[in-house]
Amino acid sequence: MAKTILVSGGAGFIGSHVTVELTQAGYNVVIADNFSNCDRTNYNGVCTILGKKLPLVEMDFCDMEAVRSLWKEYKPDAVIHFAAFKAVGESVEDPLKYYRNNLESFLNILQITREKSCNVLFSSSATVYGEPEKSPVTEQSPRQSATSPYGNTKQMCEDFLRDCVKAYEGVRGIALRYFNPIGAHPSALIGELPRGVPNNLVPYITQTAIGKRECLSIFGNDYPTEDGTCLRDYIDIVDLARAHVCAVARMLDGKMKEPYEIFNVGTGRPVSVLELVKAFEKVNGLKLNYRFAPRRSGDVVAIWADPARANEELGWKATRTVEQTLAAAWAWEKKLSE
Ligand code: UDP
Repeated sequence: MAKTILVSGGAGFIGSHVTVELTQAGYNVVIADNFSNCDRTNYNGVCTILGKKLPLVEMDFCDMEAVRSLWKEYKPDAVIHFAAFKAVGESVEDPLKYYRNNLESFLNILQITREKSCNVLFSSSATVYGEPEKSPVTEQSPRQSATSPYGNTKQMCEDFLRDCVKAYEGVRGIALRYFNPIGAHPSALIGELPRGVPNNLVPYITQTAIGKRECLSIFGNDYPTEDGTCLRDYIDIVDLARAHVCAVARMLDGKMKEPYEIFNVGTGRPVSVLELVKAFEKVNGLKLNYRFAPRRSGDVVAIWADPARANEELGWKATRTVEQTLAAAWAWEKKLSE
C-alpha cells in the first residue's frame, strides 16, 4: 500500500514542488498549511499538474490539538516539515515571533512523532554553516553561531531532532541542508510568490525584468572573489524536490545508516551574483537593469556544497543547469503577469 506523507507548509514554494514529486513517485500526500505566508496559487497549480485534488488541511502546527486530529485522520508514515517563517530581516526585528512559531510548531511535530513512532524530514539550510572557513562545505564542516534568529531556529530544530531521535525509540530523522533554491516547475504552474519586495536574488531579477522593480541592486562588488560579487550554490527547485523523494524512500525503506542523518542539497558549483545575472540575460535574451550597491549586512562571501554524501547515499544528483533553471524562473514570472 502506498505510504502517506504529510507535508507541512505544502502550499509554499518548496513544499508545493516536493508535493508534486512525491505524488508522481507514488506516495499519498496530505498538505497542511495555515496560508500565513502564501495564497492558494501553488496549491491550485499542484492539483492542475497532478490532475487531481490533494487533501488539504488548513491548520497551524502551533495548535497541538489540530496536530493530534491531523494524525488521527491521516496516520502519516512520515512528515516533511516546511511550515515556518523565513524572512531573515523580520526575524531580527521580531525574534519572539520566529522563536514562538518556528520552534513550537516543530516541538509539536516531534511530540506526535514520539507518540506515533513516525519519521521526520526537516528542511534545514546552509545558513547553519555561517561564513565557512572554506568551501565546498561537507556535513562535517562546523556550524557557526547563527547571525539571525531565523538561522538560529534552523540550528535549534536540527538539534531538537537529533536529540529526540537519540532518546525516543521508533523516531528517525533526516535534515536536508538546502543551499540556494531557485527556479520554478517546468509547467510554470507553481513557483516562488514573494510577498512585497523580494529579499532573494532570483525573484528580484525576474521582477526587474518584467518591470515590477526598476533596478536590481547587486549587493557588493568588492568581495575577495574573481568578479567581486558573492558566490552561492544555486539549486534548481525540482532537483531539490527530488532529493526529498530520495530521503523519504531511504527512511521508509529502512535504508538509513544512522537514525539521524544530515545531507547537503546543492550542486557543488559556485556561481557569482554577476554570473547569475549574465546567465539570466543570455538564456532569456534580454538586458537586465542592474547597478552595484553597497554590501548587504549579514551576507557571507562564499559558500557552496560538497554534495558527495547526498550523491552517494541518497542516489541523488542535481541535474539542471543554472540556465535551464533561470529560464523556468522567467517563464513563471511571465505566467504570473498574464
Ligand atoms: N543579492 C543581491 N541583490 C538582491 C538580492 C540578493 O545582490 O536584490 C545577492 C546577495 O547579496 C547574495 C546573493 O544575491 O550574495 C544571494 O542572496 P539571497 O538573498 O537570494 O540568498 P542568501 O544566500 O542570502 O540566502
